Amino acid sequence: STPPASRLPPDGIHFSFELFPPRTSEGKAKLPTTVARLAALNPAFFSVTYGAGGSDQDGTYDTVVDVVTQTGIATAPHLTCIGSTRAKVAALLERYKAAGVTRIVALRGDLPATAMSPEAPGEFRFANELVSFIRETHGTHFSIEVAAYPEMHPQARSIDEDFEHFRRKADAGASSALTQLFYNPDAYFYFRDRCAAAGMTLPIVPGIMPITGFQNVVRFCGNCGADLPRWVRLKLEALQDDKPALLDFGTDVVARLGETLMKGGAPGLHFYTINQADPTLRLWKALGLPADDVGP
Ligand code: FAD
Repeated sequence: STPPASRLPPDGIHFSFELFPPRTSEGKAKLPTTVARLAALNPAFFSVTYGAGGSDQDGTYDTVVDVVTQTGIATAPHLTCIGSTRAKVAALLERYKAAGVTRIVALRGDLPATAMSPEAPGEFRFANELVSFIRETHGTHFSIEVAAYPEMHPQARSIDEDFEHFRRKADAGASSALTQLFYNPDAYFYFRDRCAAAGMTLPIVPGIMPITGFQNVVRFCGNCGADLPRWVRLKLEALQDDKPALLDFGTDVVARLGETLMKGGAPGLHFYTINQADPTLRLWKALGLPADDVGP
């Protein structure tokens, strides 16, 4: 495909790469290569999810330590609070602090089936309570990232209520926000401008997910309530059996999105890498970002 015509300098724009703790021995064996290829792009930080697909907190901790040891690049654990207790979160924060971690992605997490049962007496209800707790217990030691939903969190009752809930996280002391994935830049710009108009100063970094398949993008969008433009969905569906053409089209769509976001003043891009280097590297090149050392 033809890359976007204009080239954006990366000056002042921060990139970050999200990983998950590998669950299989094959995934574990592959991660260092993926991390090395992504590290060559010199991101501001990596982040490592917690709880997705049943991963445990040890998996997150171990992956964070491995990535830092391998690359020397700051790596932020995601930390979810639903169903947990102050004592557990406090112990985990101490463990991360002792490991040299200075950035945390603070989340509520998705409600487990047991969240309301007596076995899981959660002491946190929403992410703003976790942000307050981290600030109360550790002052400014950690940079705190929170989640933002330009197209609304799927369980929120209204876009206005969801916005007010986001504001609580900012007021509680969040340092910056990473958005849920989206394919509609206007939703991001509207949300960002609304935050600025409400006096919030925290950077709101778009989360972008490379498109690598028809079924998986439809599933991801469905799970998180992201609007996949109809024309993109139709085209991806038509290209399902032609992987190279689908990857070209998907890269073009997401590179245009990234370009529009950066031109419109987005302070950075957070890539949902799904532990694969190739899709992010393809996007990186299509965006015209410097990629001298990243191989073929
Ligand atoms: P919150 O900000 O607490 O919001 C959750 C919902 O509650 C929203 O609908 C909000 O409007 C509502 N709400 C908030 N406060 C109140 C209030 N006081 N009264 C009533 N309603 C309220 N999940 C994982 O399990 N592991 C991960 O590693 C992970 N990483 C993520 C990374 C990013 C960048 C993003 C965007 C999401 C991630 N998630 C992860 C998913 C996230 O846990 C879910 O979207 C979760 O449902 C909400 O988390 P939150 O921190 O946004 O919650």
